[in-house]
Amino acid sequence: HAKDVGRNNFQFFTADFNQWATNRLHIENGLRHALARKELVLHYQPQVDLASMRIVGCEVLLRWQPQGEALIPPDRFIPIAEDTGLIVPIGAWVLDEACRQLAEWDAQGTAPIRLAVNVAVPQLRQPDFVDYVRDTLARHGLSNARLEIEVTESVLLDQDERIRHTLEGLVELGIMLSLDDFGTGYASLSYLRNFRFDVLKIDRSFVSELHRNPDDITLIRAIISIARDMSLLTIAEGIESAEQCAILNELGCRVGQGFHFSRPVPAGVMGELITQDVIALTT
Ligand code: C2E
Ligand code: MG
Ligand code: MG
Ligand code: MG
Repeated sequence: HAKDVGRNNFQFFTADFNQWATNRLHIENGLRHALARKELVLHYQPQVDLASMRIVGCEVLLRWQPQGEALIPPDRFIPIAEDTGLIVPIGAWVLDEACRQLAEWDAQGTAPIRLAVNVAVPQLRQPDFVDYVRDTLARHGLSNARLEIEVTESVLLDQDERIRHTLEGLVELGIMLSLDDFGTGYASLSYLRNFRFDVLKIDRSFVSELHRNPDDITLIRAIISIARDMSLLTIAEGIESAEQCAILNELGCRVGQGFHFSRPVPAGVMGELITQDVIALTT
């Protein structure tokens, strides 16, 4: 009997594994053609100054819409794009398209907001990445200070000298360097001294229970205090309620992002939000 159970488990395992592998291969193959087939779409999420409620920037969030299939969220395909190296051409397209869009908004006479673009480790290993960023901004007539590049804590642990070199090159360009999902990774605080970041993004996991968990308030207060001492801007991720927004503002967090203000939206909707300048809450 026990043997049967074991065998069944094994069958379940192989079935799951096969399904996982098939699915992964399916995504990988589709992703190879996604750019050429124009299936990639950018959504934008406003970043809001908590004191004035003005939109000061937006984060660019990639979506994949394969022909005749449902929209695929980034968590399902970005890791595969990173493993296969496809993130390099895809990420280059994201930066170019987002800069093109920002220049288009500028041309409509709206306030000059910042653009925050997520960048993955394989992109930072490209020796020409800094040149590509500089050339792309120039091509669209944008000043370098308009761009914020978000990297996760994993880059701090990476020993690759090329990554350090790229990050330094980006800082020299005068773009803003942002540490995403801060507090969730394994990087020690001391790594912050070795890289010149401009922004700390407080991870959503600290924000979601904020209003009922005093420990989270303590942690956020500490993060904000460190950030202030190091002259870093703090951006809180995942603000979903007025209560969380008020507490963060009280704690001295300057900028916030989350469903409370707006979900990530297509470019057209984001353009309308920028035109309104101050975020109008629907709740
Ligand atoms: P991230 O950079 O930390 O982006 C924030 C994620 O939190 C987004 O998920 C956003 O939709 C979600 N979010 C924002 N506000 C709220 C909120 O109030 N509540 C909740 N529950 N979630 C909120 P999304 O768009 O699914 O992206 C997931 C991750 O995929 C991103 O996390 C980023 O790491 C990666 N990603 C997205 N676009 C790109 C890209 O162009 N390049 C790279 N390399 N990675 C990307
Ligand atoms: Mg991000
Ligand atoms: Mg994040
Ligand atoms: Mg994240």
